[in-house]
Amino acid sequence: MGVPLASDARLASLEGRPPTVTTVCSHSSLQIFHGARLEGLPTIGIAVGKPPRFYDAFPRARPDRFLTVERHRNVPALAEQLRQAGAVLVPHGSFVEYLGAEEFGKIDVPVFGNREVLAWESDRRRERDWLESAGVEMPKRYETASEVDGPVIVKYYGAKGGKGFFLAKNREALEDFRPTGPYVIQEYVLGTRYYVHFFYSPLSDRGYRVGHGSLELLGMDRRDEANIDELYKLGAQEELLKAGIRPTFVVTGNVPVVLRESLLEKIFEVGAKIVERSIELFGGMVGPFCVEGIMTEELQFKVFEISTRIVAGTNLYISGSPYSDLLEPGTSMGRRIAQEIVRARAAGRLNEVLS
Ligand code: ATP
Repeated sequence: MGVPLASDARLASLEGRPPTVTTVCSHSSLQIFHGARLEGLPTIGIAVGKPPRFYDAFPRARPDRFLTVERHRNVPALAEQLRQAGAVLVPHGSFVEYLGAEEFGKIDVPVFGNREVLAWESDRRRERDWLESAGVEMPKRYETASEVDGPVIVKYYGAKGGKGFFLAKNREALEDFRPTGPYVIQEYVLGTRYYVHFFYSPLSDRGYRVGHGSLELLGMDRRDEANIDELYKLGAQEELLKAGIRPTFVVTGNVPVVLRESLLEKIFEVGAKIVERSIELFGGMVGPFCVEGIMTEELQFKVFEISTRIVAGTNLYISGSPYSDLLEPGTSMGRRIAQEIVRARAAGRLNEVLS
């Protein structure tokens, strides 16, 4: 048995009917609606402004119906309407970032996964406490600029798609940094980036057992990040700076990757530690999460970030991935979310996967 995350009152709107998979039209929503449809669940798309016209171009992923709001922050005003429709909200990057983790946490509609996790993810210090106390290796963190003893990356809080990050190859170069908000200074890790798409199911009693359930690996990607990924064309960061261009990490797309098979063990151990610690700290992280890290040439995997919901890199694998095919062919992350809702409902365990 997993941990109960939702009260009976919170789930009252779902009694006697299949839940309606609901999310904001953006990010990975086409995949989420497509997956729900494959599992026989109804869908609602919340559109900001008006429904995106290009959804008409994807009939197998277009939601059954749309609700519209003027701005993201008006979504909580739809709560009554959403409960009447038997909605289950599926968080994704844009939904949580534009509404705000705090507001999302308060919304009075069932949410897929444990909403408690968003408060841990959205605060870089709390996130680090969680990961470090789980025993996960992370890039070194400097409390002050005077401690810096190598290349660093300076980051602002929140998922801003790497906007405004500052790179400095040493302490002297860091003197040029002019902060515009709360930030952290981190060791710049040299290596290869991997964004690993996990799913934790508290319901499953097979596979790679972790906590009360099991951990599944559904895919992996690497992000295309403008303009840093094009740096090699100019040779070095200095060349870009001479041209008056600061390196940025604005995500513009994703490419598929696989890991050397022998490194999979390491990756699973990292995922398992993060889930186990989440159970101790706040009742557990349920459903999709992405471990974002850098594999160094010493084959150490240093985790710089965790996203505790579906990430856009999963859009690569709408018809399955080299990993999810070994679990069940044709399973996207969106479909896996819908499957978990269907399985939990059939077992009378919706309160373990919804909050
Ligand atoms: P998002 O939430 O959209 O993932 P973010 O604003 O939280 O973005 P991070 O994911 O922490 O930012 O970092 C953005 C990018 O910066 C990463 O994808 C990676 O390319 C690079 N990066 C982050 N941390 C490090 C590090 N310690 N060493 C080297 N590169 C890093």
